[in-house]
Amino acid sequence: MDFTIPEKMRPILAEMRKIVDEELIPAESEVARSGFSATVPMLAEKRARVKAAGFWAPQLARDLGGMGLSLQEHALVSEVLGRTPIGHYCFGCQAPDAGNMEVLHSYGSAEQKERWLKPLAAGEIRSCFSMTEPERPGSNPTWMETRAVTDGDDYVIDGRKWFTSSADGARFAIVMAVTNPDADLHARASQIIVPTDTPGFKLVRNVSVMGHAGSDWDSHAEIEYCNVRVPRANRLGAEGAGFLIAQERLGPGRIHHCMRWIGICERSFDLMCERAARRELSPGKTLASKQIVQEWIADSRAEINAARLMVLQAAWKIDTAGVHASREEISTIKYFVAGVLQRVVDRAVQAHGALGVTDDTVLAQFYRQERAARIYDGPDEVHKVVVAKNALKKYGVSL
Ligand SMILES: Cc1cc2nc3c(=O)[nH]c(=O)nc-3n(C[C@H](O)[C@H](O)[C@H](O)COP(=O)(O)OP(=O)(O)OC[C@H]3O[C@@H](n4cnc5c(N)ncnc54)[C@H](O)[C@@H]3O)c2cc1C
Repeated sequence: MDFTIPEKMRPILAEMRKIVDEELIPAESEVARSGFSATVPMLAEKRARVKAAGFWAPQLARDLGGMGLSLQEHALVSEVLGRTPIGHYCFGCQAPDAGNMEVLHSYGSAEQKERWLKPLAAGEIRSCFSMTEPERPGSNPTWMETRAVTDGDDYVIDGRKWFTSSADGARFAIVMAVTNPDADLHARASQIIVPTDTPGFKLVRNVSVMGHAGSDWDSHAEIEYCNVRVPRANRLGAEGAGFLIAQERLGPGRIHHCMRWIGICERSFDLMCERAARRELSPGKTLASKQIVQEWIADSRAEINAARLMVLQAAWKIDTAGVHASREEISTIKYFVAGVLQRVVDRAVQAHGALGVTDDTVLAQFYRQERAARIYDGPDEVHKVVVAKNALKKYGVSL
């Protein structure tokens, strides 16, 4: 086994790291202070710089203007970009647009690709993915209330969604709605493109998450779909294939998230070590001299290294055997890395004392935003059940 970073990726990663360190990290506090929407013009300049350097949309096929990297290669990129909350956005591979591009690429008709995928891939518009409902468990997406009823050549959509990330300012939503209520559990819902200027699409509010409602890309909206009429031609893939498409989308998406989290861990680790090395508890006696702090550092190092290897192995398996064959690996990394992320960021906050909970460092933002990592894209418990069921199958237990 060879663990060296592939030759091709080394200069790319080094150049990207330079942009992240020299241009994005210095800009992140302004975004946090002024709010995302106020800083969109400044971020557009950063995006233009990334495009000029040839690093736009690393995960996307070349014919769509991306770098055409494999999942393993993009995983390495995602770690570098994860060091700053604005990394993925500035490089055109931010959730939920990256997932929507993938779905449009795989399931979109020629017309859908022309109208939605092209401008999305170019970063000219944004999108959102609208599946979770306030009244139904997001952890069981086979059970939802939103309906899309056929009327001539149209669907008429009614329902309420929330936590539709980045809906504020998005040009279209991909909506999961039940089209075939009497079909098998996994064949009831379809994914339908809904332009956000369609009558009946109402953004009720940006939901405040731990005191932060956010704006533009950096937000999570509650949305009412009231008599929303769109052509049936807006459906992605076959009728009833919504669940299947969602599963396909979430596999690579979890690699992107997990490696982004490792980037957050590495940045937090740097800040923790820096603090431990400089902060004096008494003259000449630093935080680093305390064994308990050394333990935080050692545990964090080991956990981050383990997490990275697990994610890269899962990415390799998806690249070589496909999403379906990699379900166990995908579930394992999802809860394992989210746990590492939470522990590492928490230790870094602790090492900073009061400073750790202020907005004078990026740590509080990481802490606030990333608590959700153990919930979105499937809560820990759901993924643990997948892994345990698979393990127990070999012992004759069928759950
Ligand atoms: C920041 C953030 C961004 C999000 N972005 C999007 C988005 O863009 N689009 C979208 O559609 N959704 C999005 N979501 C929603 C997310 O996917 C759901 O929150 C998630 O699927 C969990 O659903 P729920 O909140 O309804 O919790 P529930 O399903 O009600 O579950 C509550 C808790 O019950 C426990 N639990 C659930 N199932 C089991 C089980 N089988 N066994 C044991 N315990 C269990 C878990 O601890 C879970 O946290 C986002 C959520 C967050 C927090």
